[in-house]
Amino acid sequence: MHDVFDDLPTLDLLAIAAHPDDVEQTCGGTIIRMAETGYRCGVLDLTAGDMGTRGTPALRIEESQAAAQHLLLAWRRNLRWPDARLENTISARMTLAGVIRRLRPRTVILPYWTGRHPDHYRAAEIAYESCFLAGLARLEEEVPPHRPFKIIYSSVYANVTPTFVVDISRQFERRMAALLSYESQYGNGATGSDLFPSHLFPSHQEIVERLAAVARFYGNLIGVKYGEPFAVKESIEIQDIVNMPVRSI
Ligand SMILES: [Zn+2]
Repeated sequence: MHDVFDDLPTLDLLAIAAHPDDVEQTCGGTIIRMAETGYRCGVLDLTAGDMGTRGTPALRIEESQAAAQHLLLAWRRNLRWPDARLENTISARMTLAGVIRRLRPRTVILPYWTGRHPDHYRAAEIAYESCFLAGLARLEEEVPPHRPFKIIYSSVYANVTPTFVVDISRQFERRMAALLSYESQYGNGATGSDLFPSHLFPSHQEIVERLAAVARFYGNLIGVKYGEPFAVKESIEIQDIVNMPVRSI
């Protein structure tokens, strides 16, 4: 049987998300930029979106692997936990802590800690607690402990002022290509059913425009074309206040 702990590479950056296509909408440009910088980046999706009205879990996982190519990921996996009913259980935390302990990322990107969709803030909570557990020496005797140094939260779904914004102007097109890999979700051929008529789903063009508008908004906050917002709970250290970026006046 395929074990969740099999074949795990070490990574520099790991994004943990509730659903396939979450990272493509929230922090994909930043991941691409870090991969271009030379960091080994990975994504762990907790559910396969099996409560979604379009496509099947197997199809969404397949599409997420196509998206992984655009995101320049070294690794991507789906835990196939139940969509729309994520629970912060000991078993969930132990599994996730074991994965984090083996991947050994220095930085982890999580969903913002509050929001409309319970899976998103639940994923943030489970992952934060798993990052803590992963650092306990006695959790598992055979695998050395590892606690990520930095946890940053992708705040695009939350209506908050970000702690910082990453310039993704040069990565934006690639991020869009990653998102559009989910043809069952965003393809023009994806039609509605009687229960969910197609007018409830945004069209391909609508998605492109919406994503661009959001990225423009956050880019504007730091004076660039496209940006992705993040929040951290601790303070940011600045070494050189004479050469700080982003114009004040
Ligand atoms: Zn989601």
